[in-house]
Amino acid sequence: MLNELCGDLSNRLNTGILILDNNFKILMWNRFLEVHANKSDKQVIGKSIFTVFPELPKKWFERKLSSVLQLKNQSFCGWEQRHHLFELSHSRPITTDSDFMAQNCTFLPIEVKGEVERICILIEDVTDVCHYQTQLNKVLQELALSNRIDGLTQAFNRKHWEECLAAEFSRAQRYKQDLALVMLDLDQFKLLNDTYGHQGGDKVLIDIAEVINGLLRMGDLFGRYGGEEFAVILPNTGLTGANDVAERIRKAIASNAIEYQDKNINATVSIGVAVMDEYDTRYEDIISRADIALYKAKNSGRNQVCLAKERIIS
Ligand code: GH3
Ligand code: MG
Ligand code: MG
Repeated sequence: MLNELCGDLSNRLNTGILILDNNFKILMWNRFLEVHANKSDKQVIGKSIFTVFPELPKKWFERKLSSVLQLKNQSFCGWEQRHHLFELSHSRPITTDSDFMAQNCTFLPIEVKGEVERICILIEDVTDVCHYQTQLNKVLQELALSNRIDGLTQAFNRKHWEECLAAEFSRAQRYKQDLALVMLDLDQFKLLNDTYGHQGGDKVLIDIAEVINGLLRMGDLFGRYGGEEFAVILPNTGLTGANDVAERIRKAIASNAIEYQDKNINATVSIGVAVMDEYDTRYEDIISRADIALYKAKNSGRNQVCLAKERIIS
């Protein structure tokens, strides 16, 4: 009577229930598994679990079950660890990426007269949880990225770029390494906007950012400092190296005609370069010197690179 009741209950549950003996042979199989594995209990009872589910990671599975048998402890395998163990169908084939049901599996030792000779495996369908969590992770990743990236040029935004500079500044000070800063400002950009319209100006910003990005090394950090101002942090780089990078950028931009509505737009940049020195106490000190050098480049006729003076404090 009680057996019948248990059997009936297990068939009504929305969880897979599987009982194995200590040779991994199937002793019990509920209706949930009949439906989702598309196999009746007659087809599977007495068969090895590895015959019924050849996709199971055999070694891992045997180790898992052996420890449950020996330690008499229950064990768990969640979908985040393994998306699924058993290739079971699920009920949202269109809205999820996976062909199979995401599962949380619990392995329970069943003691009979003090000996564990059977294991019950509970298979919970967590396809929905997995689906929503994956979607959420994607959105969170996008959000984290959009928090750091300038939407127009794909360079780092000012806030993130300054955070990078602060971190690089402390690192360079701690390890006594070089650190250089390149600040760029587009020349006569207001005029360019007036001539080609704001969208034309935007296209120039996008293309110039791409040109600069293409000239940098892996560890260099490129940001949009303001409207038409960009800045590059060059870790482990001295004044000569930074000047080379700045000149390369200046020349590349000056010689690159930007296509916009069947027209070619020629833009130039003025650049200020500064390096960290031993008197700097804050990262803002380097920005100030690079800015002064940039101002000098503007006043000396634009489309040129100016280096900040080395400071000698006696
Ligand atoms: P200078 O050579 O002295 O730097 O002259 P300038 O005209 O570049 O300098 P100014 O600071 O007077 O003008 C900068 C212009 O950049 C004004 C502003 O409208 C424009 N600007 C700022 N942000 C954007 C943007 O996102 N898109 C476009 N199209 N224009 C922008
Ligand atoms: Mg400006
Ligand atoms: Mg400008």
